[in-house]
Amino acid sequence: MANYQPQRGTYDAFYGDALNIEKITKVLKDIASSYAYYPIHTPIYESTELFTRSAGESSDIVTKEMFDFLDKGGRHISLRPEVTAGVMRAIVTNKLYATKDLPLKLQYFGPAFRYDRPQAGRYRQFNQFGVEQVGVTNAYEDAETIIMGYDCLKKLGFPHIILKINSIGDLESRANYKEALKEYFKDKIDNMCADCKHRFETNPLRILDCKVPSDQELVKDAPKMGNYLNEASQTRFDEVLSILDKAGVEYEVDPTLVRGLDYYSHVVFEFHFISNEGTNLGALGGGGHYDNLLKEVGGPKLSSVGFAFGIERLNSLLKEISPDTYEVEKLDAYLVTLGEVKEKAFEIATQLRRNNIDVDMGFASKSMKAQIKIALRKNAKYIVIIGEDEVKNDLYQLKNLETQEQVSLNVEQIINKLK
Ligand code: AMP
Repeated sequence: MANYQPQRGTYDAFYGDALNIEKITKVLKDIASSYAYYPIHTPIYESTELFTRSAGESSDIVTKEMFDFLDKGGRHISLRPEVTAGVMRAIVTNKLYATKDLPLKLQYFGPAFRYDRPQAGRYRQFNQFGVEQVGVTNAYEDAETIIMGYDCLKKLGFPHIILKINSIGDLESRANYKEALKEYFKDKIDNMCADCKHRFETNPLRILDCKVPSDQELVKDAPKMGNYLNEASQTRFDEVLSILDKAGVEYEVDPTLVRGLDYYSHVVFEFHFISNEGTNLGALGGGGHYDNLLKEVGGPKLSSVGFAFGIERLNSLLKEISPDTYEVEKLDAYLVTLGEVKEKAFEIATQLRRNNIDVDMGFASKSMKAQIKIALRKNAKYIVIIGEDEVKNDLYQLKNLETQEQVSLNVEQIINKLK
């Protein structure tokens, strides 16, 4: 007997989880739409090179976590580990940058794939919702993106959000900082992990992200990015922070925050959820400003800012903090059929559905009691009882399952009542 299991790091969402994921996504999409972000859909696979160029050769995503393969035509393909690179590629392919109305504001939702070690809240296929603004020119646009992300989380019901924020400056500031890091780590690197040795050569900033405890100890006293920002970068960062202050966003400047992708510059940020006991339960999402990514994938040099939320992370934490807001399946009405009335009942169901009333009915002959049990399990507000007499008189019993109130109505009246 075949016994198929889900692939490692994947999961099936159904009932409450699936409904909650849809509800969360709808809240995020609606907020982004209210900020004038238009949806964009891009393929879930792209050329591997797109991701190695954009995320950076030294990023964990590229070095360890890509789901890559050769297709039957010998092309080197990867399932997208994040969505931004594909969105930038689509902007170039379709010349979306050639608009008078920059910045372009785009929102996306869909699966991303990382060959990560599966653990609580970490999957190999997960969903991201995110936004990108392309062609930004000032600190207000960076701040607007951050404030929107913060407000999304508040709207979803997270009571304590802390925004961790840092600036990794412009190219010049980062080059000076990388030099300082190399100087600091040069006599320590021999005792650090193999990944850090590689990062030391390719991108020493990434060492700050290392999760190995003994390496983290060494990172504590490393030079801080804040001391290497040139004047323009510092001014830009101060402007963003001052706009956040005025908008009442609580933040914490974290000088070690560099984020896992190579394309960022200037402001980078992550949204963390703090439990009632004060424990940081990890990042719900993050993003930042980037100056070169569009050019890197073949477009003009336009500065951008964006963020992505992990939908599964949002769902599992929301479930913990407010299990009672968990979505359940709901119906306006369940049609209870008695005797030879299926044809008429089906006609009524279709009529109600075409009037945007959520209804269900069963086609197996069951007792009234059994059908009412189904209606209750499906959280129907009403039942419509359709028996042979009812069909003859074209009058049906509409019963409110909560108040038990029952009235006799024709189909049009039922539609008016349930609408
Ligand atoms: P990143 O761009 O890596 O910061 O990812 C943005 C968000 O996606 C993270 O803050 C997580 O909430 C979520 N995320 C990233 N990797 C995974 C994963 N393997 N499984 C589930 N969620 C993830």
